[in-house]
Amino acid sequence: MKSSALRRVKREHAKNGRAHKDSRRHARTEFLAPFAPLLEQIEVSRHADLYPFFSTDRDSAPNGRPVVLVANDYLGLSADLRVRDAAREAIARFGTSRCASPLAGGQTTLHQTLATRLAEFLHQEAAALFASGYQANVGVISALVRNDDLILTDLFNHASIVDGARLSGAQVRHFQHNSASHLERILSQEARGRRVLVIVEGVYSADGDIGDLPDICAVAHAHGALVMVDEAHSFGVLGDRGAGAAEHFELLDDVDLIVGTMSKSLASVGGFVAADQNLVDAIAHSARALIFSAALPPAAAAAALAALEILQHEPERRQRLWHNARTFLAGLAAAGFDTMHSVTPVIPILVGDPVRTIELTARLRARGVHICPAIPPMVPAHLSRVRAHVTAAHEPADLEAAVETIAAVGSPLCIARVQRTGRAPRSRLPATAPRRTAAMRA
Ligand code: PMP
Repeated sequence: MKSSALRRVKREHAKNGRAHKDSRRHARTEFLAPFAPLLEQIEVSRHADLYPFFSTDRDSAPNGRPVVLVANDYLGLSADLRVRDAAREAIARFGTSRCASPLAGGQTTLHQTLATRLAEFLHQEAAALFASGYQANVGVISALVRNDDLILTDLFNHASIVDGARLSGAQVRHFQHNSASHLERILSQEARGRRVLVIVEGVYSADGDIGDLPDICAVAHAHGALVMVDEAHSFGVLGDRGAGAAEHFELLDDVDLIVGTMSKSLASVGGFVAADQNLVDAIAHSARALIFSAALPPAAAAAALAALEILQHEPERRQRLWHNARTFLAGLAAAGFDTMHSVTPVIPILVGDPVRTIELTARLRARGVHICPAIPPMVPAHLSRVRAHVTAAHEPADLEAAVETIAAVGSPLCIARVQRTGRAPRSRLPATAPRRTAAMRA
């Protein structure tokens, strides 16, 4: 803008201060037009005291102990004294943050040790660390795959995988959830002569079912594609040593890339990728989410490292986790709830519409049961649900009490199927049960 024009605009502004403010407010309202329905929903639910998000009151219960089912702290390590001490010592030694990206020197020897131990545990040559699991997925996918390439991604994959695939610029095709035969069909039609990355999860965060890695890997590899598994909800949970779904299916040597997060079984924050040295080098030197973002703080690396050590030496935690998951699943099934496809500690309860989901969440919270709602855009409206994450730290008696509370609160909302149809839900356990590890059987 020429300086005379700029002076004129400023003069007008000074003269019509009030009108200018009104016009700015109007412009913002116009700008937010696409959000109008969402903002209205937020206002209505706040007004009715039913707003379920960003809650900070999960340690509260009106009578007795709260039952917290929102944390992915599968092995119950976030309160472990050894993990806390490790974080404290790291702060004393390295400060609160290195204030630099990993590439620019933001990591410490703790980060290096953590990456090495993760790679060893997962039987991979190397690992690279990210500041979050979200960044790991976005960074890895967008770094490895380019415009002419093809990404084949399970329909139920997490938002971070969806975003990484979009950002890569590659052609993205979805295959039906957990369907190796649909994957095979797409591969036969479109994979020839192209670089193809197939992406799945070990345990699906939406439904709590287990990825069919044996068939997915067989089909993908037959077409020369690479397979990436996001073990966010399976690391520490599945496998004889807790190394995840790839270990559970004895496929640690077959999967090409393992992505994971430290915000679940490792009781910290951060993400990682483990694979062949060349793959990890390629990613670590080109993933923008790693290069252009600060390294995870030393305390987070130290906590994850301590948790990894405990995970490897205390398998009884995994056994407790599975015992608790089975107790909770069985209790919910007996009370007539539809737990969808869950066979793991990730346990959805189908509600069927967003309004009742929000109501159920708020009423449960008021009675000390903290559970997470999943409504659009996270899931389609008719599949709205609440989702529980069972951990090794739960007391079975608390889980049983939680089932009773969910039944009592859910009853007037007509959520349990027995109440709607007079019969219990059919079992959603897969026809061919997944191979069971010692912890699952215990
Ligand atoms: N992948 C999956 C399957 C997830 O469920 C999540 C988070 N819930 C992430 C990745 C992202 O992990 P983080 O919270 O560490 O960013």
